[in-house]
Parts: sequence; C-alpha cells; structure tokens
Amino acid sequence: MRLLLRALPIALLVGCTSSFAPDSAPLTPPSQYLQWWQATKACSGLTGEFSRLRFSVIEGRDFECPSGRCVGRWEPASTIILASAYAHSELVVRHEMLHALIGHSGHPDIPFRQGCGLTWDTWNTGGANPTGLPAFDHPD
Ligand SMILES: [Zn+2]
Repeated sequence: MRLLLRALPIALLVGCTSSFAPDSAPLTPPSQYLQWWQATKACSGLTGEFSRLRFSVIEGRDFECPSGRCVGRWEPASTIILASAYAHSELVVRHEMLHALIGHSGHPDIPFRQGCGLTWDTWNTGGANPTGLPAFDHPD
C-alpha cells in the first residue's frame, strides 16, 4: 500500500505530460455541427450522442500534434480540436466526428472512404489537399 501511494503521484504526472493537451480555447459548436454530426452518423451507420462532444479551437492554419502538424484532431473519447482556419471545414470537422463515432484513430476504408468519403482523396475536392500537410491528423 505504501508503494502504491508513492507511485501514484508519479503516474499522474507522467499521464499529464504524455497526454496531448494543447493550449486551445473551448468552442461552442455552431448549429451546423449538429447537422454534420447527423450526416456522419447516417453515412457510417454508427450512433453517438452529440452532446458528449467537446470542441476546442487553436488559432491558425494548423497546430503541432503528436503526428506532426494537424488541422484537426480527435482525442478519446469525445474531444475534437480544430485549427481555427478549418473550424468551418465540413470535411475536417466531420472527419474528426467520424473518429469519435468509431472510437479509434485509424482510417478504415469503410467508413472513411466508402460510405462517408471523409478523406482528402475521397471528398469532393478532387483529391486536392489544400493544407499542404500529409494529412490532417495522422502521418500517412
Ligand atoms: Zn483521421
């Protein structure tokens, strides 16, 4: 028991420093986000509660994240961080919403490409990636 009490504060400290918690401001989701959430649930066939989502925003075109530079990022279980320049991008916001629905960070073809088309190459941008980044939230 004494060992556990000694170890706990260290574990908490490591947990705090290793988790991704950028300096961001809370974002009250615009009403559009609820429509995007419903569209993302519909294309994926998944269910989830919009009210559980927490949004925050970082000023700028992108931000530093564990995989490099990001324009958006989902953090388990329900936090979505957005670069301010992409806070109104349906693709970026819905891509992160889809992570919240599937509950992990990978990009399985179904539903990311087939079904929802929520990747740069399957969105209606003709495959163009306007960010110049390899991807918005991962290094592939
Ligand atoms: Zn992603």
